[in-house]
Amino acid sequence: MSANSLPEAAAVWHSLEVDKALDLLDSNADRGLTTEEIQLRLQKYGPNELVESGGRSAWEILLDQFTNIMLLMLIGVALISGGIDLWTWQQGQLKPGEVPFKDTIAILSIVILNGILGYVQESRAEKALAALKKLSSSLVRVLRDGKLLEVAAKEIVPGDVMLLEAGVQIAADGRLIEQSNLQIRESALTGEAVAANKQAKLTLPEETDLGDRLNLVFQGTEVVQGRAKVLVTNTGMQTELGKIAAMLQAVDSEPTPLQQRMTQLGNVLVTGSLILVAIVVGGGLLYSFSQGKGFSNFRELVEVSLSMAVAVVPEGLPAVITVTLALGTQRMVRQHALIRKLPAVETLGSVNTICSDKTGTLTQNKMVVQSLYTNNSAFRVTGEGYAPTGDFQLDGTKIPVDEYPEISALLVACAVCNDSVLQQDKGDWVILGDPTEGALVTLAGKAGIEKDQWNSKLPRVGEFPFSSERKRMSVICQVEEVATGEASVTSVDPAIAGFLQSENYLMFTKGSPELTLARCTQIHLGTLAAPVSDEQRQQILAENDRMASKGLRVLGFAYKPLPENPPEGSDETTEQNLVWLGLVGMLDAPRPEVRAAVQECREAGIRTVMITGDHQLTARAIATDLGIAQEGDRVLTGQELQRMSDEELEQNVDLVSIYARVAPEHKLRIVQALQRRGRFVAMTGDGVNDAPALKQADIGIAMGITGTDVSKEASDMVLLDDNFATIVAATKEGRVVYTNIRRFIKYILGSNIGEILTIAAAPIMGLGGVPLTPLQILWMNLVTDGLPALALAVEPPEPDVMKRPPFSPRESIFARGLGSYMVRIGIIFAIISIILMKVAYDYYPGTWKTMVFTTLCLAQMGHAIAIRSNNQLIIEMNPLSNLFVLGSVVVTTILQLMLVYVPPLQNFFGTQKLSLSELGICIGFSSLMLVWIEMEKLFFRFMGKRTV
Ligand code: ATP
Repeated sequence: MSANSLPEAAAVWHSLEVDKALDLLDSNADRGLTTEEIQLRLQKYGPNELVESGGRSAWEILLDQFTNIMLLMLIGVALISGGIDLWTWQQGQLKPGEVPFKDTIAILSIVILNGILGYVQESRAEKALAALKKLSSSLVRVLRDGKLLEVAAKEIVPGDVMLLEAGVQIAADGRLIEQSNLQIRESALTGEAVAANKQAKLTLPEETDLGDRLNLVFQGTEVVQGRAKVLVTNTGMQTELGKIAAMLQAVDSEPTPLQQRMTQLGNVLVTGSLILVAIVVGGGLLYSFSQGKGFSNFRELVEVSLSMAVAVVPEGLPAVITVTLALGTQRMVRQHALIRKLPAVETLGSVNTICSDKTGTLTQNKMVVQSLYTNNSAFRVTGEGYAPTGDFQLDGTKIPVDEYPEISALLVACAVCNDSVLQQDKGDWVILGDPTEGALVTLAGKAGIEKDQWNSKLPRVGEFPFSSERKRMSVICQVEEVATGEASVTSVDPAIAGFLQSENYLMFTKGSPELTLARCTQIHLGTLAAPVSDEQRQQILAENDRMASKGLRVLGFAYKPLPENPPEGSDETTEQNLVWLGLVGMLDAPRPEVRAAVQECREAGIRTVMITGDHQLTARAIATDLGIAQEGDRVLTGQELQRMSDEELEQNVDLVSIYARVAPEHKLRIVQALQRRGRFVAMTGDGVNDAPALKQADIGIAMGITGTDVSKEASDMVLLDDNFATIVAATKEGRVVYTNIRRFIKYILGSNIGEILTIAAAPIMGLGGVPLTPLQILWMNLVTDGLPALALAVEPPEPDVMKRPPFSPRESIFARGLGSYMVRIGIIFAIISIILMKVAYDYYPGTWKTMVFTTLCLAQMGHAIAIRSNNQLIIEMNPLSNLFVLGSVVVTTILQLMLVYVPPLQNFFGTQKLSLSELGICIGFSSLMLVWIEMEKLFFRFMGKRTV
């Protein structure tokens, strides 16, 4: 065999019997591979990873950077400016010391730099997103050395025995060893949307098509239902998906709404500036002609236009936005919220309704059984955590369980109708699998009923798996061995003896008590089954309500003797005429931090809605405890919801804060109804059938720990700790990001407007000459605006960020006064610099341009400091709370002074040395900007208006 090839039969796994396939791969269905063998195979076959392809190539990303209309305009400006310089040079009209093509080179450098910066950032963003996606991919369950383990997908090797369950995205190709009700959606591979029924027992002709290989499973496809044990046959690039690597979806790097709006803004700015240029040039020429001077001022007008065109482009903005979003994602991940789709960063802040699952998100998902109810008696169970130690009590007194056969019978059902594994890990008892089921194994263990032991006494031969729709599960066990086996002399056998009757099989069912009881016709009393009376039903349901209203999660148990193993898919008919065993109530304590988070949401204008598969009373008890349900709030059950039309649901949706006993498809209707009411909805989900609701929600949130791969794939964000409080923290970050983005947009664009007006004013005022060269404008836009803008991006949250309602996600970025602020400040900016320009031109004709340049730059320093808060005055803010702003202002001011005072820089940037008094005048004028903004804040405060 060559380094990474498989046996000859590799291509025809579907035509082999299971045993043959196991032989070929030298594996064992019950024990899997050994640790040493896995190491060898990892070396031989390499990690189970796909070499990603698809997506944009590096060249495409680079070229995309230059399709931006603003950059194209800059290139145009560079070329025209180069043409003028060439002409001047040829005419011998260059001034002494003047460097030709300076502006052209500078502009082109900026264009290229911008392109490279954009390229680096985009490719890093793509890589970062890809890495994040990997982080959110879940573990694979395998059998190794006879033990059940969870390992990373990339560590899977051919020969591994992999266990699949609903919601799993399959990590490698494999041959089914056994399966139960297995349905797999293979659309990722075959495009076929309907899930395929897979069967381990089949052997198929070699020429069978990929889509018809019903005894194989393929990497990247999804388990919709059921469970299976699979022998891994191919990994990494050898899998079917690996072979069609091009089919791999490109990493999601769609532009965020903000980035899209910025592109639109670019178009508006470019068009606007071209119109302005036309007016200035046209008007200037008309004026010149009317004075009989013809084209004498044409060159000056062209230079003015070029400067204006450069001034209009906020060159620093795209980089600042990208950096801000990237920093936002990083801050969120530190808080355990992993962003999968970039737009979520900026839209999270707009969420006004959070629909959250109960179990695990609002609660701890650490279940401890506290009560039992069987044969008309309620028992208390003591003990904490998953340790199988504790007492059973009746009326406060400890009881010997073996004297209560009905309890033993119930506990056998708990142990057998169960897929979880209780293990000891470094002294702690831990659960592999569903905590609800874990609590039941622990419970049985407290009475000495060991799951493993009972699994061998009552081997499982079939099952009807759990789903959130069915809200129940059943297992079918073979009983002959117990009946005939000599080892069946345990203390609980009398309990079992009652079940056996004369049948060969026994089905145990557990699930939602109402639904399970509805399927029962008999009740188990002591060791016998008797018809269940209406009164008994009432009693059981009343006890169920009593347990539920204490916040317990209650499960009902039943059994049914069967003459034969029922066929797959016959659940509806088989799960009838059951014998009722009893109720088990378990506590799942609320997460302690959630109460404060719900309160924070309320203050922030965000409504929390609980959506749960659990009983309405359990849901209400927990929701009340957490402050989610308030007086007047309604509880709606899945059944009631089912009966409602979409319109009715829409009318009620604002009043309901708890949805109980819902199925995943109801979630979709709830989101849609909320959205029709104009709500911006974040929705959590974990199951495979939650995916449509997660996609529909404005922010779909998957659970990092308990979530299925399918739900993660459909989500915008993954909660690494499954915790509701994390959603709230991420929402807060979203608000901070959005506020900061608005802040630096105001800051940057206000300055651009000021620059353009100042430049346009010069020829109109007949000053002769352009106050700012393109090079100086680039300097301002990139350095003196860019650095403080970056610092503003990390501005800490304002204290009231979660004390105000969210803003509409559909609002324009210029809404709530941002547009008018920009224009107003731009005009003030221009007025200050135009007055200064006039004064300087009249009194300091040698340095007037440098004075304008310096004043514009310094004015922005004051602006940066003042704009940190919309409402607080500078003196009210802690200057040290954002040291970056302070630092960037100091650095930028020093750089600006260097441009004015260091001779080589003077030459290059075309500045003149300013005298102390000239510099003082510049500082005086520029500080007017700061004074103005502070006066505005006072004015708005006085008028009682808040600006945000
Ligand atoms: P949430 O949506 O808040 O996470 P949930 O976890 O209670 O709610 P499901 O897991 O869909 O929702 O469970 C719905 C109901 O199904 C439960 O109330 C319980 O009655 C029943 N149930 C839950 N887990 C099992 C299980 N492993 N076996 C049988 N029935 C179960």
